[in-house]
Amino acid sequence: MTKKPLPTLPILVENAATATFNCVYPACGGSCCKQGRPPIEPGELARIEANLPKFLPHLRAKARALVQARGFVTRRKKQGNPMLAVSEGWCVFENHGCVLHKVGAKEGDRFQYKPWACATFPLARPGKTDGWYVRQWQLYGEAWDLFCLNPKESKHSAVSTMQGEIEFAARLDLGEEAWRGGSVPRPAKRGAVKHDSAKAKRSAARK
Ligand code: SF4
Repeated sequence: MTKKPLPTLPILVENAATATFNCVYPACGGSCCKQGRPPIEPGELARIEANLPKFLPHLRAKARALVQARGFVTRRKKQGNPMLAVSEGWCVFENHGCVLHKVGAKEGDRFQYKPWACATFPLARPGKTDGWYVRQWQLYGEAWDLFCLNPKESKHSAVSTMQGEIEFAARLDLGEEAWRGGSVPRPAKRGAVKHDSAKAKRSAARK
């Protein structure tokens, strides 16, 4: 059987040739937001703070009480940034889906309030190259045992199901999301980049 050619992508995805993924939300219950605690950038924090009255009515009752009493971030830090708080085991903004996502989508941009770390999931940067990669069990020491990161869980090529996330990552690379803050991935290679399966294999072999 002839394999479908991979699309030309606006970012470099190191394991584009091999990664599988498809988001099955709501069937999974939104497990990536359970104890997720994503770090948020100063610009993201300020934007959420400024728009908090829009989000509060949509939060779970206990999450809303926690946010009103103590705020939506904790003192714990990840990559130098504060992390979103958790209530009843879930991110405070989770309520049958991400409230930041839902309110943003209603206003025309689903990523405008969402931390970039969530908006790009399951894309990540290896930190050693200019590229991105799709998180998969054990790749680059992946420790999160989330079922959807198991490459055997999906028959779908990740780059075919993650168009929105890939386009958003391209916006980051192009510096269009600089308002978020200092840890936003630096601009990498500009323009359309064809995936490089040989490079992906070399990267996987390094681990
Ligand atoms: S901000 Fe939204 S997507 Fe990110 S962990 Fe919280 S609920 Fe999930």
